[in-house]
Amino acid sequence: MSAPVQQPTSHTASYYAASSLPQPEYPPLQGELTCDVCVVGGGFSGLNTAIELAERGLSVIVLEARKMGWGASGRNGGQLIRGVGHGLDQFASILGNEGVRQLKLMGLEAVDIVRERIERHNIACDLTWGYCDLANKPRDLEGFAEDAEELRSLGYRHELRLVQPEQMHTVVGSDQYVGGLIDMGSGHLHPLNLALGEAAVASQLGVTLFEQSAVTRIDYGPQVRVHTASGSVRANTLVLGCNAYLNDLNPTLGGKVLPAGSYIIATEPLSDAKARTLLPQNMAVCDQRVALDYYRLSADRRLLFGGACHYSGRDPQDIAAYMRPKMLKVFPQLADVRIDYQWGGMIGIGANRLPQIGRLPDQPNVYFAQAYSGHGLNATHLAGKLLGEAISGQQSGRFDLFAQVPHITFPGGKHLRSPLLALGMLWHRLKELV
Ligand SMILES: Cc1cc2nc3c(=O)[nH]c(=O)nc-3n(C[C@H](O)[C@H](O)[C@H](O)COP(=O)(O)OP(=O)(O)OC[C@H]3O[C@@H](n4cnc5c(N)ncnc54)[C@H](O)[C@@H]3O)c2cc1C
Repeated sequence: MSAPVQQPTSHTASYYAASSLPQPEYPPLQGELTCDVCVVGGGFSGLNTAIELAERGLSVIVLEARKMGWGASGRNGGQLIRGVGHGLDQFASILGNEGVRQLKLMGLEAVDIVRERIERHNIACDLTWGYCDLANKPRDLEGFAEDAEELRSLGYRHELRLVQPEQMHTVVGSDQYVGGLIDMGSGHLHPLNLALGEAAVASQLGVTLFEQSAVTRIDYGPQVRVHTASGSVRANTLVLGCNAYLNDLNPTLGGKVLPAGSYIIATEPLSDAKARTLLPQNMAVCDQRVALDYYRLSADRRLLFGGACHYSGRDPQDIAAYMRPKMLKVFPQLADVRIDYQWGGMIGIGANRLPQIGRLPDQPNVYFAQAYSGHGLNATHLAGKLLGEAISGQQSGRFDLFAQVPHITFPGGKHLRSPLLALGMLWHRLKELV
């Protein structure tokens, strides 16, 4: 199968790229190489899978079309939030109640994997603890109380605190919200620096990393052969970790993920006093709408304000002009503040919102992890661990829980998928109004 790598959309220079640690250059693949596992994609999914496999003694090659962390992993909101998927009880008929409970526990473990990786390898990525879910409506607050109760029943060891409407200004300096749920086990970080740090860890563990090495063709079989413009890799096992940037590389997997654009603006650095009026406790926050606002302060006190979800494949001409009114609705006091950076990236949405972690039914040596539905910072790290466990033969029970959940192929083929999803999302937004 051949796959022209399409040009990305809306990837204007991000604040992260401008403030990252030095970015080492990994060479492009040249000639023919052999390894145990070839991983396609140098984002969190690919890098963490590579680390987990190398730690278990396998030889690994990572092929990245552009730069390590170039995709969503290096340009996201940096919000590290507990949990994987959404509405996990819907899977009880497939996995049983105990299976669902295991998924929920893995959603908590996922943040611990990130924490441990950062601490163990001393990755400088501004990790800061503290996150708050923001209630747009009183019924959101009722839902938060149930969430907190469930988390405690699962043994969640971090502080959880409901915030009543009259206390909301201690978390966000805005009149937009009617309450919140503080979670001190979630937080925020500089995602590109985390990805670069993980690439360095992988390299130190003996993983061979190649950049500017877009995979253009895969020959499947008991041994796969993966081709780039200037070389090829033979491997016993292949892992596809391209998420929303997969394009046509594997149409079966591509049909199960809808790429959607999300956008972020970064203000100029704010004074300490001004930053504290916006987010007095320096927490990351998200509201509860389908096209949610998510925002936080950077280490140099810029407000990084993200949101929107575009399914059309067309990005706003001017991201700052598009996002600024959303920011000013929440913080009118920022009217005179300059926007220094604007950028976007692609989120991979799956129909049931459970990350898709599994292997191709007709190619049992081809594994994949994708469709984190905008909540992938922690879930990619869990996916890497589960793939490491399964591919190394250490254990597959946890991997199997994810792999046995079916994921529908979006109807309408490549060109109709996005408009159909846009219609679906419009329906959800209309429901928010009632
Ligand atoms: C704007 C934005 C904000 C977000 N905010 C958050 C957040 O705050 N918290 C959160 O948890 N999640 C967030 N997400 C989601 C999160 O970033 C993703 O779920 C996660 O980074 C996915 O990682 P990945 O490695 O699977 O994919 P990616 O990081 O997208 O990496 C895929 C890589 O595959 C490469 N690739 C594609 N095709 C080929 C090929 N043919 N050959 C070789 N390489 C190829 C691409 O170049 C890319 O680097 C956000 C996403 C976006 C876009």
